[in-house]
Order: sequence, then structure tokens, then C-alpha cells
Amino acid sequence: MPDDGQTINPFETAKRQVDIVAELLKLDNGTREILKHPKRELTVNFPVRMDDGQYRVFTGYRVQYNMARGPTKGGIRYHPQVSLDEVRALAAWMTWKCAVVNLPYGGAKGGIICDPKHMSKGELERLTRRYASEIAPIIGPEMDIPAPDVYTDSQTMAWIMDTFSMMRGYSVPGVVTGKPISLGGSEGRGEATGRGCAYVIREAAPHAGVKVHGGTVAVQGYGNAGMVAACILHDEQQAKIIAVSDSKGGIHNSDGLNPHAVEEHKKKTGSVVGFPGAKSISNEEVLETKADILIPAALENQITKRNADKIQARIVAEAANGPTLPEADKTLYEKGTTVLPDILANAGGVTVSYFEWAQDIQGYFWDLEDVNRRLEKVMTQSYAQVHKTAESYKVHNRTAAYVLAIQRVVDAIKMRGIYP
Ligand code: NAD
Repeated sequence: MPDDGQTINPFETAKRQVDIVAELLKLDNGTREILKHPKRELTVNFPVRMDDGQYRVFTGYRVQYNMARGPTKGGIRYHPQVSLDEVRALAAWMTWKCAVVNLPYGGAKGGIICDPKHMSKGELERLTRRYASEIAPIIGPEMDIPAPDVYTDSQTMAWIMDTFSMMRGYSVPGVVTGKPISLGGSEGRGEATGRGCAYVIREAAPHAGVKVHGGTVAVQGYGNAGMVAACILHDEQQAKIIAVSDSKGGIHNSDGLNPHAVEEHKKKTGSVVGFPGAKSISNEEVLETKADILIPAALENQITKRNADKIQARIVAEAANGPTLPEADKTLYEKGTTVLPDILANAGGVTVSYFEWAQDIQGYFWDLEDVNRRLEKVMTQSYAQVHKTAESYKVHNRTAAYVLAIQRVVDAIKMRGIYP
């Protein structure tokens, strides 16, 4: 089971990553300090009327980490374990993720400490609207643009958009992304993360000595990101999906699974487990499957020092955020595994969020083909730039992605200068 890593303060990890890259880029101390501090943090404590008529006070955060490259962008998470340090770390990672794919954005993140699984829809709506009004002074299309994250979705974004618009007196669709299409959402946003991940795998495969056509794929976490990546690799790149899992367990078939049929089975039964013709395997076995490509697409801290040496895949494409712990990373590199780091491999989602915002602002909407063509271009170019950076600095892809991203943020900071 994932273990060693749960107790690590994520913001300490985020700062350590900056230090490593700062050494490589030979950054001065002042610049390092800027990169290790969130620019703006807002904590809000606010009451919500619960269904039983009582009021409860909730705590929420919004952290805008760095806005040198443009307005900040990042999701809002509802979870009992949300903490300010977690939100800071996630906001830092959003800064680097936006920069690695060269979006004109800084990074932000928000969260509310709550247990959404035990709240009614009405309670969630009141919680969301009150939080939106509390953070309204610091969000907006030109300032900070939230999006969905853990346990928030397009309905949550619709409530935020409506609340913000009510306060302004006119509709402001560009204040959030991940909205329903009917409110200015973008075609292709739903599948953008998995699609972007499939494009990055396609680009990296020749460098890793892997053939995607006819190659084998294992996916941990058959949800939005993992399922879409599997379907696109199967349909468009003729890969063979041999193992997948969800929170209830895994399945394996060395002749290949039809990813669409597995999706139907999961829709009907609630899990991939029990899919006809497949052997049941554990979640750990999915990670350790003999496959050319492994896509961790579930949770953080899945590849640890305990299982890293058992990973057989030649490519590990991180659709999930933070699935690999640093000490496991080292083992993978020593084995010659090509790791496609999360800030690159799952950046398709934020890229199409950027397209959504751009469409909202210009009031002109693109068709799916247009969205996917532009996404493909961004992901292909970004992989090429990360690969080139890895070669010129003689580092692995993860460090290269951070070097590229942090260099871009530093360039913006330097060109703007320090005010006043
Ligand atoms: P999701 O809820 O749609 O899917 C997650 C899947 O993981 C579910 O099928 C769930 O059953 C499964 N799962 C949970 N625990 C598991 C376990 N222990 N072992 C195996 N499977 C398990 O979520 P998603 O949107 O696909 O997000 C998955 C990951 O991708 C997260 O790390 C998320 O931060 C990251 N991500 C998603 C997006 C996006 O646009 N959806 C963008 C960037 C990053």
C-alpha cells in the first residue's frame, strides 16, 4: 500500500524542488526566495446554514502563488484534509504546470475543509456560493481563474460563475473554467487530460525505444483521466490495453481489453472488476504488470521505494498528480524507465481550460476538432521542449520540466523587474 509519503508536508517538498532547480539554473538568493513564497494567500471563515437549520463555520483558502506570467489558474478542492500548506504546494505546482506548457498564466489553488460526501446538494450549493462571495475580491478573468479539483465539478463551477456574475450585475463566464457547455464551457475539456497524456506518450515513445502501435498499456485508476487515455491510445494509436484498475481492484487480459467495453461495464456495475474474460488482479499487480507503458491515473504516492524496483514498464506517464515519490523516482531512473512527469503528462486539462477562458473572453467558440488540434500542438511542442532541456542539462524529464517552467517564470520576473 502507499505509505511513506503521506506524512510529508507537501509545501516543504515543493520548496525542495525549487531549490534543486535553482542550483541548476544558478539563481541568486533573492530570486529563489521569490519562487519559494506564495504571492497572496486568503483564508476565509464563513457560516453556512445546514439542512437542519443550524449554522456551521467552514474554513476555506485561496492561494495565488505567482502571477509574473499572467492571471493565476488552479482548481478548488473540497476535502476534510485540506490545509494551507497543501493549497500552497498545489498552487506552486500549478505555476510550474502552466509554465511548462507555456500558458500565459501563473498558478493558484483553493480549498475548503469540509466533507462533501456527507453534505446535501443544497448544503454544497450554499457552501460554494458563500465561499465564492468571500474570495470574489481576488478572483476574476483578469486576476485568478478557478477550476474543478477533488470533489468539485462543473456544477460547482456553475454556482461560482453565477455568484460572481450576480455580484457584478452581468454574466462573467471567464471567471472559472470547467463549466458546463451551456454556460461557456469548452468542447473537449472533459477528455483533455487523458488526450493530452496520450499525445505526450506518443511523442516520448521513440526516445524510450517503445512502440505504441501494438505496445502494451496498464492503467491504474480507470476514471476520467485514465479511461480517456486508455481509449485514445487504443483507438488512435493501436495500443493494447492489458490491465486496468479502480478503487475496488484490477483486471488483466494479456490478449488486450476493449477499453470502451470496460467503461460500459464500470458504468453498469460501478467497477472494472468482474469484466468478462479478464483475470482479477490487485491494484499493486496492475502497477507491476509487465507492460510497455504504465499510466498511474488515480492518487498521489502510489510508486514508492517499496514497489519502484518492481515496476516493469519502460514508460511511466503520470496522468495523476504526484503518483511517484522522490526516492522511487531515483530507482526508476536507475532502471532506465522514462518518466513523463505529471506537470507535463497531465497538463492537457489546464491547456483546454485556457482554451475555455480564451473562448469566453472573445465570445467565440471553437468546435471539437479545433480544440483537439490546438491541444495536440501544445502537448507535442511541450514534450519536445522538455526533451531538449533534459538533453542540454543532462537531467531526467521531471527535473527538465521544472527547469523549463521555472526558467520561464524567472524570465518574466526579471523582465518585469521588482516593484517599485
Ligand atoms: P476520477 O475520480 O475520475 O478517477 C479516479 C479513478 O481512480 C477512479 O476510477 C477511482 O476508482 C480510482 N482509484 C481511486 N483509488 C484508487 C486506488 N487506490 N487504486 C486504483 N484506483 C483507484 O479522477 P480523475 O479526474 O481521473 O483524476 C485522477 C488523477 O488525475 C488525480 O490525481 C488528478 O489530480 C489527476 N488529474 C486530473 C485532471 C482532470 O482533468 N481530470 C487534470 C490533471 C490531473
